[in-house]
Amino acid sequence: MQYVDEFRDPQRARALLQAIDRLASQIHQDRPGPLKIMEICGGHTHTIFKFGLERLLPATVELVHGPGCPVCIMPRGRMDDAIALAQQPSVILASFGDAMRVPGRRLTLLEARAQGADIRLVYSPLDALSLAQAHPDRRVVFLALGFETTAPGTALTLLQAQDQGIGNFFILSNHVLVLPALEALLSNPDLHLDGFIGPGHVSVVTGTQSYQVIPGRYGKPMVISGFEPLDILQSVWMVLKQLAEGRCQVENQYSRLVQSQGNQIAQQAMAAVFERRHSFEWRGLGAIPASGLKLQSSLAAYDAEVQFDLPGNLVADHRACACGDILRGVKKPWDCRVFGTACTPETPLGACMVSSEGACAAYYRYGRLAQITSDP
Ligand code: SF4
Repeated sequence: MQYVDEFRDPQRARALLQAIDRLASQIHQDRPGPLKIMEICGGHTHTIFKFGLERLLPATVELVHGPGCPVCIMPRGRMDDAIALAQQPSVILASFGDAMRVPGRRLTLLEARAQGADIRLVYSPLDALSLAQAHPDRRVVFLALGFETTAPGTALTLLQAQDQGIGNFFILSNHVLVLPALEALLSNPDLHLDGFIGPGHVSVVTGTQSYQVIPGRYGKPMVISGFEPLDILQSVWMVLKQLAEGRCQVENQYSRLVQSQGNQIAQQAMAAVFERRHSFEWRGLGAIPASGLKLQSSLAAYDAEVQFDLPGNLVADHRACACGDILRGVKKPWDCRVFGTACTPETPLGACMVSSEGACAAYYRYGRLAQITSDP
C-alpha cells in the first residue's frame, strides 16, 4: 500500500475485524475473560479513538492504554524545575508547545509566561540552538522531553552546539526510555496483560531486537505497529494469532519503517551524549530504575541541572487525579471522578488531559465520556 486512504480502507478493515473476531472466539473457548492488549504509544491511543476502533473490536478484546505519551509522564516536580529556570532573569526557556499546559505544583509554563518569564515555543531542539545564537547575552535552556524518538534530536543538537563552541545553550533533560517502563509495568502483580502493541516511532530508533526481553522474560507477545487504523487492526490480529497458536515473539507490523537493528546513527548520537540515570520519577508510576537519560558528565557545561540551582522537589499528583492508574492501565479515564467536569483540555488537572496523545484527552475529544455500555 502506498497512499494513506489505503490504510483506512473500510473493506480491508471489515475483513480484519472478522479475522480478529474468529481468533478471539477461538482463544475464548480455552481462556474465559477479556484479552487485554496494551498499546504503549499515545499515538496509537489517538488513532484508536479518532477512528473508533475500540468499539469495533469484539467485547472479549480490551485495549489498555499504556505510558507512551511523553508529556503525560512528566512529573509535577520536573515542571516546577522548568518554571524555576524560566523565572531567572537571564534565561530563555525553549519548550515544545505540548509541555506549556502541563501542571506543575502551582503554575504551568503558560501561566509563568503570562507572569513575565521568557518562554519561547520551538518545534525542534535546533530552534532552541538558533535562539542561543541570536541571543548571545542570554542563557537559553531547551526543555528536552520524550522517549527514544526525540532523544537523538536533542543529542545531535548538543553535539552541534559543542562543535560550534556555543556556550550559552543548555539542556534540561527529561528524556525517558520505553523498555524500563514496560518492565516496571510487567512486574506489577495487579496488572494482567496478554500482549502489547509496540511503539512504532520509538522502534524506528531502537529496532525490534531491543524488545526480546518482553517475550523472553515475561512471556508476552509484542507486535510493533504503525499508526493508521489498518496498522492497528492488523497488529491486534497478529497478537491474537500468536496467542491462538501458543507463540510468544516480537513481530513487526510496521516493517515499512522499522528495522531489526533500528537507526544506528541515532543510537550512536544518544550514546555519545546521554547516560542512564540511576532512577527517574514518572508521573503516576513513581521512580523507575534506569529509565531516564541525563547528560554525560563530560558535557556538564551544557547540563542545566549542573549549571543552575533547581528546586528538584518530588511533588505528588493532584489528589483527584487518577493519571497514575490510567498510565498503568488499571483504570479508564471515565473512572476518574473529575474527568470531563473539573478536568477538561481547557482546564487540565493532570497531564493525561494535556497532550493530544494522552488517554484522557483522547477520550474527551472523541466523546468517550462514559463507559461503552451506553453505546447503541
Ligand atoms: S481526567 Fe484529568 S484528573 Fe482525571 S486522570 Fe485524567 S488527567 Fe488526571
